[in-house]
Amino acid sequence: MKTSETIVRQMTKDNVMDTTAKPNLDLRKATVERKKLDGYRCLGKQRDGNYALSVGVPTACLTPQQLRSLADVVEQYASVGHFSTAQSMIIVGIKEHDLYQAKRAVMEAGFEVRSIGRDVRQVKCCPGADYSPFGLQRTLPMATFLEETFRGVPTPMKFKISVSGCPNCCANTKMNEFGIHGTTDGWKIFVGGKMGNSPTVAQEIASSVTSDDVPKYLAAVLRTYKSQAEPNERLAKTIERIGLREFKNLTGKSLNMPYEDLASQAKEARESAEQSECAGPLGHQ
Ligand code: SF4
Repeated sequence: MKTSETIVRQMTKDNVMDTTAKPNLDLRKATVERKKLDGYRCLGKQRDGNYALSVGVPTACLTPQQLRSLADVVEQYASVGHFSTAQSMIIVGIKEHDLYQAKRAVMEAGFEVRSIGRDVRQVKCCPGADYSPFGLQRTLPMATFLEETFRGVPTPMKFKISVSGCPNCCANTKMNEFGIHGTTDGWKIFVGGKMGNSPTVAQEIASSVTSDDVPKYLAAVLRTYKSQAEPNERLAKTIERIGLREFKNLTGKSLNMPYEDLASQAKEARESAEQSECAGPLGHQ
C-alpha cells in the first residue's frame, strides 16, 4: 500500500515540487456525460486508469474495528483510501477485474457502497459538543437523525446538508444547500449554499431553532425546493430566481407538516440504490 509519504515523493522531481498534470480530455468528457445520467451512478474510471468506490461513513466516525476492516479492503484491492470533502471514504486504485470483489468486501465489512445522483447526500458534520472544546450543540446525534431520515430523497439536483457545532462552521455549513450551526440557544439555519465554479454563500432563514424543529425546517425546505425548482436546478439558483423572501414564505407554509412521506421516499430510494448495479447487488458476477 502506498503511504502519503510515497505519494508526495512521486510528486517531486529533482527535489522540486511538480504538480503539473496533462488533462485527460476523453476521461473528463466521459465523466461529464456520466454525471448527466438519470438514476444511480457509481464512480467511474479515475486518472490512474483504475476504478474507485465511494464508501459511506455516516458522521465521519469510525470505530477501531471499522478502520481495520476498511484498511483490509484497501490493502487487498486498492492503492489508497481518500476521505472526500463530503466525508465519504473514496477507495481508489481498484483494478477493473477486482471491482466486484472489492465491492463485496466493502459490504461484508458492514459499509454501504454509495451511488451518486440527484438526491439528498450524506450529511456532513464536525465533531460538535461531544468532542470539540468550542461545541455549543451535539452534532453527531443531529447528523445521524437527518441522515437516517432524509438521505436519498430525490431532488432536482444534488442536495447537501452540513451540521456544525458552533458558528465557526468547520463543516462548511454555509456552503451547502441546507446548513445548520449550533448556538447557545439552539440552531441557526442557512439555505442555498454551494461550491463549484461559482460558489454561493448560504443565507440565514431561522435562528434559535430547537433540535426537534430542525428536521421540520429541512422537510419544508425540501418541499419548497422540489416544488419551485426548474429541472436540474440547484437550490442556490432557485432561491436567486424566486427571491429569498418568497422562498422563506413558502417554506413557512409547510413547516408544520409531518414529514413521514419524505422519510418513506428516502427509505425507498436507498433500498432501490442498494439493489442497483453500482451499489449492489451481490448476487451475480
Ligand atoms: S464548528 Fe465549532 S464545534 Fe465544530 S469543530 Fe469547529 S469549532 Fe468545533
